[in-house]
Amino acid sequence: MKQVPFLDLKAPHQELQAELDAVWARVRDSGWYILGPEVEAFEQEYAEYCGVRHCVGVANGLDALHLALRAMDVGTGDEVIVPSNTYIATWLAVSQCGATPVPVEPDPATHNLDPDRIEAALTPRTKVILPVHLYGQPADLDPILAIARRHGLRVLEDAAQAHGARYKDRRVGAHGDAVAWSFYPGKNLGALGDAGAVTTNDDTIADRLRVLRNYGSRVKYVNEVQGWNSRLDPLQAAILRVKLAHLDAWNARRVEIAALYLRELADCGVRLPQVPEWSQPVWHLFVIRHPQRDGLQQRLAEAGVDTLIHYPIPPHRQQAYAAQGWPEAAFPIAEQLAGEVLSLPIGPHLSPDQAQQVVAAVRAAH
Ligand SMILES: *Cc1c(COP(=O)(O)O)cnc(C)c1O
Repeated sequence: MKQVPFLDLKAPHQELQAELDAVWARVRDSGWYILGPEVEAFEQEYAEYCGVRHCVGVANGLDALHLALRAMDVGTGDEVIVPSNTYIATWLAVSQCGATPVPVEPDPATHNLDPDRIEAALTPRTKVILPVHLYGQPADLDPILAIARRHGLRVLEDAAQAHGARYKDRRVGAHGDAVAWSFYPGKNLGALGDAGAVTTNDDTIADRLRVLRNYGSRVKYVNEVQGWNSRLDPLQAAILRVKLAHLDAWNARRVEIAALYLRELADCGVRLPQVPEWSQPVWHLFVIRHPQRDGLQQRLAEAGVDTLIHYPIPPHRQQAYAAQGWPEAAFPIAEQLAGEVLSLPIGPHLSPDQAQQVVAAVRAAH
């Protein structure tokens, strides 16, 4: 029995070996090792890809979220609406501004922020709504943007898992006031190390971000504000330029695998992801649910199928947020999802045979 890896991180880079080797030589010989032409070229190409005016490269996805909130003037005493079932980075970015993450439960059908629950969580301190396009599926942005407009709030999207996803036929990246991206190696568009970016149509936010990421400086040795060192590395930018050209084809391969899973696992006792008609997900993860998840994961492991859990402990139950003192039952949907979700192998280099092995294993194991 062959092992099906959860995600083959080497294969995309072996496929592009010649192009990636050329990138290294080009950056080495350019004489630019901080910001400069590769970073600017990637920013322009990714902005074009997203159909948005500005892209500002930063060091990682957490910084993209954090600095975008700073660029929106979020600070001490402010509140930001976040999903109760996201990766902890979404919350940490808010906390790093001195602001308070205010969790709102997801729609359990889509795992994304439930717009109908947002208004009950708003207070006079609320400044931003921060939906996450979890697992590569867009959150329901139109009602979220309408609530924000009604209450004079900003919308920052966490698109770390959604490169290329479409909401109502338009690519994620230009709907809200700003959109934060991670290019962590395992994402749909991943660097060979840490990298991130913010896209926005707002000239002021883009301008502030360029200053905040670079020591608060626009002109060398002139510091307007106390900024950060969070610059996109030019070598990573050059690698991302190569991989961006393959993103759509690789996402299409994920869509094929997801279609196979949805078809072949339709009647076998596991709960499958639901896709609203306005959503074109890019399947960063293919997440099923089962009430006896741990047993299912064990049986799949015995059948050679690697799986992961995204995420086993919701942020409000992490020790990092213990001081907040939320009661155990505060966010029951997040708790239930954390106990039931299981991510099956998916990725552009998962072969048809491997996908069939996953299907057979789930059908035998549920
Ligand atoms: C990966 C991820 C981040 C953080 O990205 P880093 O580049 O690892 O800092 C933020 N939010 C979500 C939803 C993520 O999946």
